Parts: sequence; structure tokens; C-alpha cells
Amino acid sequence: MREVTSGAGRAGRRPEKTAAGGGPGYNPRVSQSIKIAGGGLSGLATAVLLARQGVEVEVYDRHRGGGGRFTGGWQVLENESRELDALAELRAIGLAPDFPAIPATRALFLDGSERRFEVASAAPYAYFVRRGGAEGSLDSWLRRLALGAGVVLREGVAAPPDADVIASGPRQADGVARELVFTSDLPDTVAVLFDPAITPTGYAYLFCLGGHATFGVAQVRRVRRLAAAREAAWRRFREVLGEFDVRDGNEHGQFMNFSLPRHLRGEDGRWHVGEEAGVQDFLFGLGNRLALRSAGLAAAGIAGRWDGAAFRSTLLRPMRTTVALRFVYERMGRRAFAAFCSRASRGDFRRFLIRLQRPDAAKDAIARLVMAAWRERHGCRHTPLCVWCRERES
Ligand SMILES: Cc1cc2nc3c(=O)[nH]c(=O)nc-3n(C[C@H](O)[C@H](O)[C@H](O)COP(=O)(O)OP(=O)(O)OC[C@H]3O[C@@H](n4cnc5c(N)ncnc54)[C@H](O)[C@@H]3O)c2cc1C
Repeated sequence: MREVTSGAGRAGRRPEKTAAGGGPGYNPRVSQSIKIAGGGLSGLATAVLLARQGVEVEVYDRHRGGGGRFTGGWQVLENESRELDALAELRAIGLAPDFPAIPATRALFLDGSERRFEVASAAPYAYFVRRGGAEGSLDSWLRRLALGAGVVLREGVAAPPDADVIASGPRQADGVARELVFTSDLPDTVAVLFDPAITPTGYAYLFCLGGHATFGVAQVRRVRRLAAAREAAWRRFREVLGEFDVRDGNEHGQFMNFSLPRHLRGEDGRWHVGEEAGVQDFLFGLGNRLALRSAGLAAAGIAGRWDGAAFRSTLLRPMRTTVALRFVYERMGRRAFAAFCSRASRGDFRRFLIRLQRPDAAKDAIARLVMAAWRERHGCRHTPLCVWCRERES
């Protein structure tokens, strides 16, 4: 076990007693000191926000050095689900975003009929960020903030059973992915393949920025075909982008969680954040921004300022909307994907996605119908907070 502290910030700071807020039926949990299970995005962000309010915080992570399950690949901090810029949102939460983030305003979409579509936006539709323990990653930024706030990091150990906040990532495979992280001579490229014949219910991507590349495939259904999808998608990218070097490759499988939580605090007073709570976008599996948002909501709740209205409007309703969008996505054939790519390439891509994902009464109605049809009826492995999840694939 390794204990990492900044050596500063803790001395002389006597935390005040703070009671957790919450809806009726919740037992307030008095929090002079807090143990957090999981030092990924949501766990570290919660830790930073609490430590700055004088709470003594310990974060337990079974991986050493930060970055958890990620090994240095590119991910996006999406900037297309709402008008508010993702970096401005982090500032508003209290997490100054001083990490390397590459704004993305262009991408190449490939459809199932070998056509190419260039999409573009005036403002970034996403920020590219690195994941993993290396310097410059999103994870190392939060680790630095945590140490600066006096958080004690206990690494290389499993979380204790009495942790107050659970932030340990996915609990069951609601979707699966394979990723190859490598070094390449490929010029800067952001390419996404939407071909239901290759990646049914999913998509494939190849990002290369500054010679650092990430290729991945993700699927929610027909997951046994993931290996075949990986091969076919790789071939397609090779055909379209031409020959390129693949050096220092590191390939690994991953899984992801999606379930709708009724609250971020369970009946036992524990808080759940990030993907462990099911918090993730069900359409594309983008969970970074929502994980950080859930940390902001939970930290406020632990400090006695739970905002149920913000939880419903900024987390629950947008997540429910993605259930409706996923239903449509899975019913799209090759032609519909071609139409989607074509439509996305005709206007401002960010504005197109914001409109697509804006919650409204029609999407709420579709989501209600889809949730009834897809509901898991045989029990799930999600947290006790789960009020809805999709039936697992048999
Ligand atoms: C291949 C892949 C690509 C993705 N790409 C994107 C993307 O481009 N954009 C996006 O927004 N989202 C993406 N996501 C989703 C995103 O990574 C997650 O939503 C986000 O990391 C969730 O943060 P978290 O804090 O909940 O969990 P994590 O970041 O997974 O952190 C969980 C932490 O808990 C630790 N842990 C687990 N169990 C224990 C235990 N028992 N004891 C102690 N520690 C434990 C782990 O080591 C880890 O550090 C991707 C996911 C995958 C799998």
C-alpha cells in the first residue's frame, strides 16, 4: 500500500461537521472525514471539492500512479450535449481546467457505403484529452488538484468496505469496447466509422494527434462479434487512410455501465458517483463530463447542499434522453447512417448534436416506451440506486 500526500494543506485545518443533504427518507451522514472508493475522474473530483471545504478525504484506488483502467489513449470531453462549454462547466463546478485539451472542430465520418463526410463546427464539439497516469492526462490533472487540496491517496489497495463515496467505475458490462493505443506517423486524424454491418449497435474510431493514436470499437449489443468488428473496422480505416506505422501498440478490452440512478445517495447514506452509479451517456458511451458533473452534485450534497432539481435537469433527464436516442440509433440501417452523416456534414456539427440531444416532451415519451420495453426484469448488478437498466443480452 502506498500513501501519497502533498504534505501541505491538512495541518491546522479542523473540518467542521457537515451533514449530508438529500430527499425524504435519506439518513443524513455526518462527514468530518470521508473515504472514497476509486480514484478515477469522479472519485478524485469529489475528493478535491470536499477537501477544499475542510473535509479530511482519503481516496483508495486499486491501481497505482493514477489513471486506473486507462493506458494513455485519447478520449473526448464532449462539448455537444448542451450549450454550456465543457471547460466553463468545470470552472463553475470549481475545477479549473488547466490540463492539456485539444479543441476538436473537424472530423471525418465514414458510412457503410464507403462514402466520406467532413463535419465541422465553429466552436469545439469536443476537447481531446489523454487518459491514464502519464503527465498531461485528465487523470494526472485531478491527482495534482487532489494532492494540492490535501487529499490522502492510498494506491494499490482495494477500497475498504466502509467507504462513504463509491466511485469505482463500471459494475457490469452494459457495453464493451476494445482499444489499441499506439504511436504512428499518421497525420492528425479524427475519423469515426458508422457501419451497422461492421459494428452493429456501435461505432469505431481512430484518433491520431501529434503522432499519438487510439483506435477503438464499441458495441452495446451483439458483443460476441466485437473481435470480428475490430478486424473489419481496422481494415476499413487502413483502406481509407492509407498505410501508416503502428508502433508500441497496447491493446485491451473494456466494458461500460449505463443505468438510471434515482439519486446519488443510497438508503444507507453512501454516495455513488460516475460510472459506478450508472452515470454515462447511453448513445455514444461518453461519460467523462457526466462523471465530473455527478462529482459536483455529490460533493454539494455531502456538504449539505443537495440540489435535487439540478440532479434531475442536468443528469437524469439528459441520460433518459439518450435512452430514446439509442433506440433510434439501433434501428438505423446503412441508409439511415448515411443520411445521418450527410446531415451532420451540412451544417454546424456541434449545433446539430446539441439539437439532437436537447431533452423535450417527444424524447421523454419515446424514452418512457423504450424503458418499458427494454427494462431488465431479472435483476442487475448495478448499485441499489438503479431505477432502470436495460435487459442484459442473453
Ligand atoms: C474504451 C473506452 C473509451 C471511452 N471513451 C470515452 C470518451 O472518449 N469520452 C467520454 O466522455 N467517455 C469515454 N469513456 C467513458 C469514460 O471513460 C468513463 O465514463 C469515465 O472514466 C468514468 O469515470 P469514473 O470516475 O466513474 O470511473 P473510472 O474513471 O473508471 O475510475 C474508477 C476508478 O476506480 C478504481 N477501482 C475500481 N474498483 C476498485 C476497488 N474495488 N477498490 C479501489 N479502487 C477501485 C479504478 O482503478 C479506477 O481508477 C470511455 C470508456 C471506455 C471503456
